[in-house]
Amino acid sequence: MAKPTKADAEAAIRVLIEWAGDDPHREGLLDTPARVARSYRELFAGYTANPRDYLMRTFEEVGGYDELVVLRNIRLVSFCEHHMLPVIGHAHVGYLPTNRVVGISKLARVVNGFARRLQIQEKLTAEIAEAIQEILQPQGVGVVIEAEHSCMTLRGVNTLGSTLTTSRLLGVIRDDPRTREEFLSLVRGA
Ligand SMILES: [Zn+2]
Repeated sequence: MAKPTKADAEAAIRVLIEWAGDDPHREGLLDTPARVARSYRELFAGYTANPRDYLMRTFEEVGGYDELVVLRNIRLVSFCEHHMLPVIGHAHVGYLPTNRVVGISKLARVVNGFARRLQIQEKLTAEIAEAIQEILQPQGVGVVIEAEHSCMTLRGVNTLGSTLTTSRLLGVIRDDPRTREEFLSLVRGA
């Protein structure tokens, strides 16, 4: 299937403006299709990223460090694949290194690389955890995501302020009760 052109995308956005009930030819809306098409490049940048690459390029020897590494409150912006509406929240990512660690900014980039696509939160959570497991091969990985789904808070049942929490725990973070509890308390900020 041929990739649509920018003109195709802009035409589709004009159709959606009409579908919403407005006139795409009125002055205030003339440049909107082009702006929306451009903003899609950024909002869906995950499709041109390979998040595994961020982890592969930058590992360092761990130098005897054998405790949990946890990055909390990574800002998360994604889009639900059922309604194409924003999913906004935070991810908490941790792992227990075996012999490699990555720069913490790389963990945030991995989260972004998977988030900036059409997603479901459960799958997003699993994809982040599995990429870290696969590339760094740590003793365990934990990913917790808390996010608000616009498709629930802006429409439908209108459950303003409710958030969905998902988690994916692998290895010792799943299986060893002490490590699991330590991870979860670090995530809670205790
Ligand atoms: Zn939705």
